[in-house]
Amino acid sequence: MTERRGDTLDGPDALSHGTAVELPGTRIQHLLDLSRDAFVETDSRSVLTEWNRQAELLFGWSRDEVLGRAVTEFLVPERFLTRLGRELESVRMAPAATERTRPREMKLLHREGHEVHVSVTAYIMGSGSELRIGGFLHDRHEEKAAEEALAHAYLYDSLTGMPNRTLFTYRLSYALAKGKASPGSVALLVLDLDRFKAINDALGHEVGDEVLVAVSARLLAASGGAQVVARLGGDEFLVLFDGDRAEAEAEAFSERVLAALSKPIAAGSSEVFITASIGIASTSALVTEATPLLSNADAAMYQAKRRGGGTVEVFGEAMRVRVLERMNTEHSLHRALERSELRLFYQPVVEIKNSRAIGVEALLRWDHPDHGLVTPNKFIPVAEESGLIIPIGAWVMHEACRQLRRWQTKRYGGLEGAVEVNLSARQVDHPAIVATVEDILNDTGLSPSNLTLEITESALMNDAASALEVLHALKDLGVTLAIDDFGTGYSSLSYLQRFPLDILKIDKTFVDELGMAPEGSEIVAAVINLAHALGLQVIAEGVETERQLEELQRLDCDFAQGYLFSRPVPAHELITAFPETIGA
Ligand code: C2E
Ligand code: MG
Ligand code: MG
Repeated sequence: MTERRGDTLDGPDALSHGTAVELPGTRIQHLLDLSRDAFVETDSRSVLTEWNRQAELLFGWSRDEVLGRAVTEFLVPERFLTRLGRELESVRMAPAATERTRPREMKLLHREGHEVHVSVTAYIMGSGSELRIGGFLHDRHEEKAAEEALAHAYLYDSLTGMPNRTLFTYRLSYALAKGKASPGSVALLVLDLDRFKAINDALGHEVGDEVLVAVSARLLAASGGAQVVARLGGDEFLVLFDGDRAEAEAEAFSERVLAALSKPIAAGSSEVFITASIGIASTSALVTEATPLLSNADAAMYQAKRRGGGTVEVFGEAMRVRVLERMNTEHSLHRALERSELRLFYQPVVEIKNSRAIGVEALLRWDHPDHGLVTPNKFIPVAEESGLIIPIGAWVMHEACRQLRRWQTKRYGGLEGAVEVNLSARQVDHPAIVATVEDILNDTGLSPSNLTLEITESALMNDAASALEVLHALKDLGVTLAIDDFGTGYSSLSYLQRFPLDILKIDKTFVDELGMAPEGSEIVAAVINLAHALGLQVIAEGVETERQLEELQRLDCDFAQGYLFSRPVPAHELITAFPETIGA
């Protein structure tokens, strides 16, 4: 496209032949042509006086075509004309000087109409009619591309190509500012895949990545490109809605997404079924900023998870009250530790064949100054979510070990009796768990064989690989390991085999069915047989009636625990309730 001017007077040919008279201007022209940057010079009225070879290549105009024309006619985009006029005016008014400006970014027009991005180092020379304004124009195209690639990496997720958290945060702030954060003007949707970790664990990270890419494609399809859909990392996605119908649109979107996810995803050589938990929150009179909006959407998403996943929850008044309550609980739970408001109750575990107590389970209570004794179901979830379960759990274990040691030294109960302590998933995940158990055993002087740790199925499922490592390390300390609430979670039978477990506790819901209908006993019988086949002993939880106990005996269950023998009681009451075991 570039037109080459003729080498009539001042072209390189004249020089190379060495015959033509070299005018000074020609030599300058030649030097300018060697420059890797475009060079452009005008007089005070913006009329072009110089235009080198590189300028021809960059803008598509030959020197002959443009010399004598004003740059404002063809080179400068219309939207910059006013500013350029102002700047030229100030140059004309300035006293005569030679001045170089710092490089600055500019966009100029190519002959074909598109914009050319250049960085300009300009100089001003002379004054009045002698005034010249020259500039070296450096093509920014390649640097721009590199910068854009960098910016892309900074703002977009590399796996899915979706906006990342940084870009999403910009967009969210913009939407909030635009809607003046008025009630309902912005809605946020948080989507978290359910049990994604299990997919990663079972099928490998590559398949996990394929699933994430497939999910992001379905999200984009459901949005139809109308919303900002971002990946926050991991298996969490965010969608932004703004405008009058923001919340209604978010709800409709979530229904479309859940439907889209109900179809299996082909990943690796398998088909993967996945569900998601979705939380939605929108701006209100109380919530006008990004941070609370995000945490409300998160709270709604967690509520959807608690309901079993695969569902949508919208943050509303009821949830706001619940969140406040949780915050309150968390706040006072902090002080519960400091103010020694936590108590341990103990419930005996009885050997079925001879009715002898072989140990006790330590169960936590909170002696709340206003509410009296609070049971763990009311505050353990908050302790788990806030991380307080780590210091609380350590206190429980220490107190339980100390108590058993005290009984032992007073010669209440035999040395073979064990105390069972419940561990949360968070505790199993905690890097210091093994060291904590070891320290507590050393500190209290309790033999590891007297400590049983109860772990629920979900704790094992969370991160199966690292749970396995932790359990082996605990086993190496010499403690006994039990799986608690068996049958209520997901644990497949393969888990029982893989993990170094000693005891299986059948959940109360199965024990309740005993003796009611034949199927009820069959399930319990199957679990007991399986456990025995794998070398595990079995404790039946929540035994309340003689009838259940008889069934358990018939089915060859090893141990039982429940109100039939004793409710959980404080340590001093246990001695009188169980003279033949713990007591003298
Ligand atoms: P879990 O470990 O399965 O404990 C058994 C629960 O069943 C206890 O409830 C106990 O009081 C109750 N129970 C025992 N026998 C019977 C019965 O015959 N009938 C009925 N209806 N219930 C019976 P509790 O003490 O309210 O504890 C609930 C759960 O809280 C425990 O279930 C355990 O998962 C958790 N928990 C308790 N203490 C701790 C602790 O120190 N740390 C952790 N992480 N969790 C704890
Ligand atoms: Mg337990
Ligand atoms: Mg249990």
